[in-house]
Amino acid sequence: MAKVLVLPGDGIGPEVVGEAIRVLEALRSSGAIDLDLEFADIGGAAVDAHGNPLPDASLAAAMSADAILLGAVGGPKWENIDRPLRPEQGLLRLRSELGVFANLRPAVLYPSLAGASTLRREVVANLDLLIVRELTGGIYFGQPRGIRERTQDGEREGFNTMVYRESEIERICRVAFGIASGRARRVCSVDKANVLETSELWREVAERVSGDYPDVTLSHLYVDNAAMQLVRAPSQFDVVVTGNLFGDILSDLASMLTGSIGLLPSASMDESGKGLYEPIHGAAPDIAGKGVANPLAAILSVAMMLRHSLGREELARRVEEAVGSVLKRGLRTPDIGGGEGETVGTRRMGEAVCEAL
Ligand code: NAD
Repeated sequence: MAKVLVLPGDGIGPEVVGEAIRVLEALRSSGAIDLDLEFADIGGAAVDAHGNPLPDASLAAAMSADAILLGAVGGPKWENIDRPLRPEQGLLRLRSELGVFANLRPAVLYPSLAGASTLRREVVANLDLLIVRELTGGIYFGQPRGIRERTQDGEREGFNTMVYRESEIERICRVAFGIASGRARRVCSVDKANVLETSELWREVAERVSGDYPDVTLSHLYVDNAAMQLVRAPSQFDVVVTGNLFGDILSDLASMLTGSIGLLPSASMDESGKGLYEPIHGAAPDIAGKGVANPLAAILSVAMMLRHSLGREELARRVEEAVGSVLKRGLRTPDIGGGEGETVGTRRMGEAVCEAL
């Protein structure tokens, strides 16, 4: 039986995760899946209860789980405490201890929400892309780093290095090709190979890996062009694979194509298929406790978990279709409302998805 660890966290985290759990419970009680759900503390809630944003017991439970569902961490209450005790440090440590190197961020436009995008309807129509971002290498982890004084003139300079090893590039490319072969079979690798040696190597390895996936087409774009294309014609993309820095920027850009931050899930995966699943949004202290947060990003994170860690593609699709049908019926939390449809709170949105399931 698969073991799922739930880390609700802070702010709206427990509210949106509560609805995601309701969806998992609905699948479990219908006999569609057998699951063992465990709960543990992380973030500010863990600081308050245990004096540590990632208590040993939470980390141990995460290490032994098959998948982890996280709400969000942080909030004004913990903003001015010592850095090692801040909620965000608990999440960063969890990601690094789990070795989750592959960050998957889908951007899908539900047709009934075309009007919620900041781009014109015809530009975002049929948008269904997935950014696969390398998460544990590249310039964020290059050595040495820091701000130092130059010996010749005493002027300070910041110094970072971008390093990618072949094995790091290969494993993230394999994730991208593997996923693309179950989708529209197109991978676009994004780099800056006209300027950077790391990118030259990236392109060479991507080409080599593509030889093992003859049914998937590989193309390459320079990152500047990719940013432009994502806004010009985003529906040309299926799977985009890229390094840590470029992926950080492009995935935020892509997320805004679909409307609200409250809609977008993410997965961070290790080599064995174990994953940490979380909405891309934070703890939203401005709306916490009001019962108005959009739970769909958390619910869609459960769909990603079913697909990528629990091997249940058909259930993932059922959850995604249930979300689509609820949106089609016109149910809207305030963030996607804009005066259209029936305005509902967190709880009702979660209930409606369960009913649709
Ligand atoms: P945020 O994502 O929490 O909120 C940004 C804006 O989006 C707010 O106006 C919020 O009300 C809205 N929003 C977010 N999620 C929503 C949802 N599901 N439904 C409706 N509206 C939603 O970002 P922030 O305000 O910059 O950060 C708040 C706290 O969250 C900080 O402490 C930050 O460090 C933390 N944070 C945590 C994570 C994480 O846990 N992965 C990610 C980002 C920020």
